[in-house]
Amino acid sequence: MRRKTQMQQNTNPRDLQVMDFNGDIPMPAASSSKRQQMPGKRTNTEFVVITYVFFAVFLFLAGYFSYFLTFRSESFINHPSNSRISKLSEHTKRGSILSSDGKVLASSSESQDGHTETRTYPYGRVFAHAIGYSVNGLSGLELEANFHLLRSHSFIVDRIRKDLAGEKTQGDSVIATYNAELQKCAYDGLGSYQGAVVAIEPDTGKLLCLVSKPDYDPNTVAADWNSLVSDNDHSRLLNRVTQGLYPPGSTFKILTAREYLREGGTDDDSFKCDGVYESGGYEIHCFHGSVHGSQSFKQAFANSCNTAFAKTGLSLKKGGLASCCKDFLFDTPLPTALMNTKQSRFRLKKNASDPLVMQTAIGQGDTLVTPLHMAMIAASISNMGVLMSPYDIDHIENDTGDLVRSTTPEAYGKLISKKEAKKLRQYMRAVIENGTGRALAGKSYKAFGKTGTAEYSSDKNKAHSWFVGFAEKNGKKIAVAVIMEGAGAGSSYALPLAGKLFDNYLG
Ligand SMILES: [Zn+2]
Repeated sequence: MRRKTQMQQNTNPRDLQVMDFNGDIPMPAASSSKRQQMPGKRTNTEFVVITYVFFAVFLFLAGYFSYFLTFRSESFINHPSNSRISKLSEHTKRGSILSSDGKVLASSSESQDGHTETRTYPYGRVFAHAIGYSVNGLSGLELEANFHLLRSHSFIVDRIRKDLAGEKTQGDSVIATYNAELQKCAYDGLGSYQGAVVAIEPDTGKLLCLVSKPDYDPNTVAADWNSLVSDNDHSRLLNRVTQGLYPPGSTFKILTAREYLREGGTDDDSFKCDGVYESGGYEIHCFHGSVHGSQSFKQAFANSCNTAFAKTGLSLKKGGLASCCKDFLFDTPLPTALMNTKQSRFRLKKNASDPLVMQTAIGQGDTLVTPLHMAMIAASISNMGVLMSPYDIDHIENDTGDLVRSTTPEAYGKLISKKEAKKLRQYMRAVIENGTGRALAGKSYKAFGKTGTAEYSSDKNKAHSWFVGFAEKNGKKIAVAVIMEGAGAGSSYALPLAGKLFDNYLG
């Protein structure tokens, strides 16, 4: 009976095939053995997969946590909707902001009862947009450094004593990279013009000065608030260095020249200028009716010859200028510690008409740039193609002057090759030696640059005055962008102001 039962259970034909002749003990078939092991194996595989998934999730979270702590935490803490940061101000007296040359740019004083703080800006309008304000919201460096200014690294015993006495501890001081003397020079140089001046140290990215006009008095922002926010005609609160979008005019020829040379053009390619170039029923004229005659490409750059560059623009590959602009970070968030910066804009479709291509090549068309971006382009050319990310906090100190932390210069990366940067340096030097920038020749320092006169209305007599360039002396360097709205020729207004900055900084 027992055997019969066993036989009845082994009715699978494949099992029967491997049955012993004796019919007593069925040998386990290979397939049968596989079938018996499969559930165990599947469990193992599932376990391994789940382990890997959990491990990957863990790695991702650990990675994101590190990234957040390193790159995002400060902006998160600084966010205006973070109510905890305002709690800090109940226990800490807002720290001071000083210039790199030791001048106080912002400081706080307390009322007798210790409940009210008054923020004072000794330089007033001169540093308005660079330092910003801290009432009715925050702007400028006051916004960027808010967390540091409300944190205290003063001596622990002092902190405890003040805490017990119900007094505020002194917040840390922020030492900015701005040079007060250079800032004053830029502010005075811009005079009554609207516009922007910004200077960067090319090999570190330190911001040396930042002026935007029209401006406001940071000492009276609260009282002036209604008039400031309703000022649509002049936008006095707008930081034109970081947020002003302007046509670049002939300063854009730096990019057109780079693309032309990249596509195989040479310094000595010959261009003949009789003052006007026509294509597609549209004429491009040289500035103020100039006729430059026969000239090399390099000399056409130095002369800022519009007809040569209109022709150059038409000779470029479709999409060539767009790719060049991409290299120079157009339509890209700028890598900088400065907050709320706008992106420069480049627009030129591959099937664009000849007139639009010609206009774009000479910096008109639909291109718009911020002064900060143009200064960064100049700085990267000075620094052999490598762009250093601009920053304005040099270091943080506690109330006794001990270092809390300092900023390490950071290279964003190479925008163009060293060879290309060297070539553009030669072109920008030719502008000073025998072109539109001759006013800066023969100085104790070596200046490089490009002037620009950017039309912005149908009235051809209205133009912004531009200069973008840099100067070097004994290893000390400064890159600048200057724009004076509606002033006129770049060589007559922006260039002399850049010269004043170079004189002031490099002597
Ligand atoms: Zn010309």
